[in-house]
Formats: sequence, C-alpha cells, structure tokens
Amino acid sequence: MSFDVVIVGGGLAGLSLACALRDTRLRIALVEGRMPTPVAGWDARVYAITPANADFLQQIGVWKHLDAERISPIYAMEIHGDGGAQLDFSAYESGMSELGWILESSLMAVELWENVKRQSNLGLFCPAVPSAIEMSEKAVVLTLTDGQKLATKLLIGADGRDSWVRETAGLKSIDTPYGEMGMVANFECERPHRGIARQWFRDDGVLAWLPLAGNRISMVWSTPDADAAELMAEPEEVLCFRVANAGANILGKLKQISQAAAFPLRLMRVPSTVAPRLALIGDAAHGIHPLSGHGINLGFQDARVLAGLLTANPEWLDIGSERLLRRYQRARREETVLMQYTTHTLRRLFRERLPGLKPLRNVGMNVTNAVPVLKNMLVRYAVGAF
Ligand SMILES: Cc1cc2nc3c(=O)[nH]c(=O)nc-3n(C[C@H](O)[C@H](O)[C@H](O)COP(=O)(O)OP(=O)(O)OC[C@H]3O[C@@H](n4cnc5c(N)ncnc54)[C@H](O)[C@@H]3O)c2cc1C
Repeated sequence: MSFDVVIVGGGLAGLSLACALRDTRLRIALVEGRMPTPVAGWDARVYAITPANADFLQQIGVWKHLDAERISPIYAMEIHGDGGAQLDFSAYESGMSELGWILESSLMAVELWENVKRQSNLGLFCPAVPSAIEMSEKAVVLTLTDGQKLATKLLIGADGRDSWVRETAGLKSIDTPYGEMGMVANFECERPHRGIARQWFRDDGVLAWLPLAGNRISMVWSTPDADAAELMAEPEEVLCFRVANAGANILGKLKQISQAAAFPLRLMRVPSTVAPRLALIGDAAHGIHPLSGHGINLGFQDARVLAGLLTANPEWLDIGSERLLRRYQRARREETVLMQYTTHTLRRLFRERLPGLKPLRNVGMNVTNAVPVLKNMLVRYAVGAF
C-alpha cells in the first residue's frame, strides 16, 4: 500500500495532525497500537489548553463537537511561593476573555478519533504496531508486525516520549530525569473555584489545582518519587485531607472523584527532530515538566505548523525533502526550547535549597506581581504565547 504521509501514533498530537490534513490531496495512514476509549466519570488526565490551541482545534473541526459542559474556562491564575509570596494573573487584566481551558485528555482523544475515522483520505491501521523501517531515496517502507507494508513519502513519529520511530531512525534524545512523579486525581470541592487555576511551589514539589466544570478540580502534584509513592498509598480520606491542606484549605473540604495515577517526569531534548523523509511531533520530539502545563500544547503546535507546511507545499515538490522538514524543525525550535528552558529554570529555582534563596525568590514573585512588564511576560509564558 502506498501513501503520502504515514503517522505512527494516534495520541493527541498524531490525531490532530491527521485531522489537519483532512482537506488535502495527501493520502494518509495512521498506525496506532490501541484506540482511545472514553473514561467513566471524570478523566484524571486533564490539560490546560491555550487560546492558540483552542483555535487550532476549532480550525480542524474538533472543538465544536466537544461536550461544552465538560470544558472549563480559566479566568485567573494564582501562584503561591514557598515563603508566602503570591502572583496573580487574570484574563480581564490581560485583555482576554479566558486564559485557557481545562479539558479531559480522553474527551479530546475520542473526538479526534471519531473525526479521523470519517476522514476519506485516511487509512486507519489499529490495532497495529510497526516492526521495521526501510529508508530509500524515494520512499520509506514501514513494515507492520502482521507483515503489511506501507510505503510513504514521509513518515511521522507521533508515538510519544519513548518513540519507537525516533529510536529506530537513530535520532538522539537527551534525557534528564527529574526523580519526580506527576500525581493526578480529581476532587469535588466544598467551595466554588471561580475558574481560578492555582499552583503552589512547595518544599515537596509543585501542586496545581485546575478548575473542572462544576465544583470540581483536577490536581497535578509533581513531587519526588518517594513522596509520590507515599501519597499514592494513602487511603482516600487521608489523601483528600493532605491535598486540601497542601492548598491551604482554600476550597474547603475535598472529596476524591477519580482514581489517582502517577507518571514519571523527565526533561527530554531531541537535538534533531527531522531526517530525510522523517519528522517527529509531540512528546516524541520533546519532554517538558508538567508545571507549565504545556506538553500537549507544544504537540498541537507541532501538528499545526507541519500541516501548514505540507499543505502549502506545491505538488511538484517532494514532501519528504529534508529542506522542507528542516523548515518545520526551525519553525518549532524556538518555542520548544524557550518553553523547556523557562519551565526547567522555574522548577530549579524552587527546588534549590541554597541559604537565602527562599526569601529571595518570594520577594522576586512579589516584585513581579507589582511590575506590569514582568507580569505580562509571565502571562505570555502561561498562555503559551512567547
Ligand atoms: C502528570 C502530567 C500532567 C500533564 N499535564 C499537562 C497539561 O496540563 N497540559 C499539557 O499540554 N500537557 C500536559 N502533560 C503532557 C501531555 O500528557 C503530553 O504532552 C501528551 O500526552 C503527548 O501527546 P502525544 O500524542 O505526543 O503522545 P502520547 O499521548 O504518548 O501518544 C502516543 C500514541 O502513540 C501510540 N504508540 C506508541 N508507540 C507505538 C507503536 N510502536 N506503534 C503504534 N502506536 C504506538 C500510543 O498508543 C499513543 O496513543 C502532562 C503530562 C503529565 C505526565
């Protein structure tokens, strides 16, 4: 079988790229190990989606099909330092109607999947796993474990942070494990969250409460491995008490409404995200600490930019040419590196135990809160508009 673009990995990044290529002359194949399934109740994996990515999801025809009752706008953010400092941003002060939206991962994945299933220029291979890549000057041939062979002009690795495509193609990745887990769980709260996303920089990591529709929040607690293991082992009522307490009981008592889960965290840099006839997108191309909430936001922008370049490419120019793919790499490098660097530095600043640093960083937060230019820079970081 012969295609123009073969995408390995139908996570949010791979699915959004496939959707963005819907109204093109390109013949696409999507290879995915397992199809996404809806989660009963509230998915503990939620994402803060930036306005730029809400627009992208709108453009590819997905946003309007999402259940509006489950999309929660973020009107403001409160960031608490470890020494009493506080930094606040609001959509109103920044001249925006929302700073972003909180959406469940499975909600977006299922909707993207439904779109892709109906796409007439797309062949869906699922469940399917690749076993070999053969590169030649004119094409790439991807062999699946069931023996099927897919020939293509361009192979996309959208297969997540342990990307098989990246490894098999020999593209290097530089990993910096944080020795931390991101623990996630959802809670019902006693007091209304008023659409405010809250974050606490604490001695034991970074705790975020993201507003969910209704009186619910989603927690992401990035904390050292041992602390995460201890939290994961706590009975429900003890966990609720500890989470409420860690957030200064700002929303009153909490009641757990989803299973807790924990993910290992690492910074991953990929010096080269393209090769002849091959490009990486999403977590296959970069890993970032979740304190910024920008992982999938970077992935959606990879998909948007790559789809734009492929669509604009004249028919007589090869879409697998290294020249075109280098343009994609250049277009994505600055935002990715800046976001990784800023997030990594912020995390380090709050993890350092040097004497005198704690008061200094808290004074820094208070000063930033009072200086509009600095604050504006941070709002741009928070909404992914560097
Ligand atoms: C605790 C935590 C909280 C986070 N919070 C946020 C947040 O608030 N905002 C945000 O933007 N990001 C957040 N992220 C990051 C976000 O989860 C990732 O950036 C995002 O899921 C990456 O999507 P992806 O499609 O690139 O990869 P994945 O979601 O990993 O998808 C990869 C897909 O490829 C498939 N696959 C893998 N290998 C193969 C193979 N060999 N053959 C076939 N199929 C294969 C998999 O089945 C999967 O469907 C968070 C991450 C963590 C750990």
